[in-house]
Amino acid sequence: MAVCELCGRSDVETTVHHLLPKEMGGTFGATAHLCIPCHKQIHALYTNEEITARLTTIRELRQDEALSRFIKWIRKQPPTKIMKIKKSKERRRR
Ligand SMILES: [Zn+2]
Ligand SMILES: [Zn+2]
Repeated sequence: MAVCELCGRSDVETTVHHLLPKEMGGTFGATAHLCIPCHKQIHALYTNEEITARLTTIRELRQDEALSRFIKWIRKQPPTKIMKIKKSKERRRR
């Protein structure tokens, strides 16, 4: 478990994002550790070409309008929301 560099949530599972996409020559370039929803969102919104053109730092990603809206939302989500599929017994109410 780690801290997501984009949304800043802690205790999340993170994946490695290449700030300059691998396909664009960033294999040995800078990386960021992002939680899975943040990482998915970046690649859902932008192509490698767009990322390379203007979103190659965490600061630029955070300042992007669509992503900053997403970050505001994801910050309110519990870190375990997506990972935990099992229903806990505590949720059963009478
Ligand atoms: Zn995140
Ligand atoms: Zn990535």
